[in-house]
Amino acid sequence: MTRRPDRITSAFRFAVLALALALFCLPQGRALADDPSIVTAIAKADDASAFGLDIDVAGPAKPALVLLRHPYRVALDFDATLAAAKLPELKGDKLVKDMRHGLIGADRYRLILTLTGAARPELTVTPQATGSRVGLRLMPGDDAAFAAAAATTTRKIEASAKVSARPQFVVVLDPGHGGIDNGATGEKGTEEKTVNLAFGIALRDALAEYPEVKVLMTREDDTFIPLNERAAIARRAGANLMLSLHADSIRYRDLRGATVYTLSEKASDSLSREIADSENSSDRFAGPEWDQDAPEIHDILVDLVRRETEGLSEHFALRLVTDLRNGQIRLINNPKRSAGFRVLRAPDVPSILLEMGYLSNPDDEKDLTSERWQKRLAGILAHSIADFAKSR
Ligand SMILES: [Zn+2]
Repeated sequence: MTRRPDRITSAFRFAVLALALALFCLPQGRALADDPSIVTAIAKADDASAFGLDIDVAGPAKPALVLLRHPYRVALDFDATLAAAKLPELKGDKLVKDMRHGLIGADRYRLILTLTGAARPELTVTPQATGSRVGLRLMPGDDAAFAAAAATTTRKIEASAKVSARPQFVVVLDPGHGGIDNGATGEKGTEEKTVNLAFGIALRDALAEYPEVKVLMTREDDTFIPLNERAAIARRAGANLMLSLHADSIRYRDLRGATVYTLSEKASDSLSREIADSENSSDRFAGPEWDQDAPEIHDILVDLVRRETEGLSEHFALRLVTDLRNGQIRLINNPKRSAGFRVLRAPDVPSILLEMGYLSNPDDEKDLTSERWQKRLAGILAHSIADFAKSR
């Protein structure tokens, strides 16, 4: 009991810090309604038959309950919320093995509990004078009940929490290179940065046909942007997909066709490693102020989120290759490859890098600079993106 004031004080200090940070980060003139909610306290609230947590939130709380199996996990996702509270300690809890929390997006907060077995969760949201109290109760349950809860609880909470329209699918188009960084140069003097931007704009225009897809671009003119910053733009936008657009050159002059790349620590082959090294060297143009890697988000959750993101990136890449093939866009052999592209490193944004073709090949150079060809490729990609958006 004597420790309680301490905990309140430190939680309060966290809250003030988070609030200050939130206010500092908000663009000027942002409407009050957009201000993030803040988790100010998390306390154990067990009773004889249930594991319990009470989560106090300053501001509105609309948590979504997410249930995962293998192992059994219960997650609470809070949109537009920052955390300023510590987790209570687990002591002899039979149902819960591990508890973690952190930000999984620009202002999306997740609390995740790993269970020792199946459970029956109950979620309540009670309005309070200064915000809301979210109550989570876990009763012992069986696998069937857990699966059933997964099907119903999430829908119920979402239905009561979401009054606004379905959130839009946000895609960030990233025309590679720019400014001082020209990228590759074709035999006829075509600069890669110009091709990438022209195609980015063509793709944005093609996507205008799909109002459910919101398009953002990392650059709309001839500006240099470091690689980390490109990924950061996608993260800040809460993007559902990022497409980095390129048209590099390679020492094999005969090689032509498009390649779809995803991120991997180890390159799928030596050509991919060469391309990734060449793309990553873009940052040699960045000043010392860009030297540091962007700070990682709360690392205890990164792995979980990253795995989800990798799966989605892979899924989109495979679909895109099929769509390009069906659309008769020339592809290189084994067109789905992977390597350590720095621009694809946002842990929470599914990302792919498209090499549309090689400027080192005269036929590809002709295609890449042809408005008709760009339009055709843009149409296929736009359709592919809209399809992916629908499936999410
Ligand atoms: Zn490039």
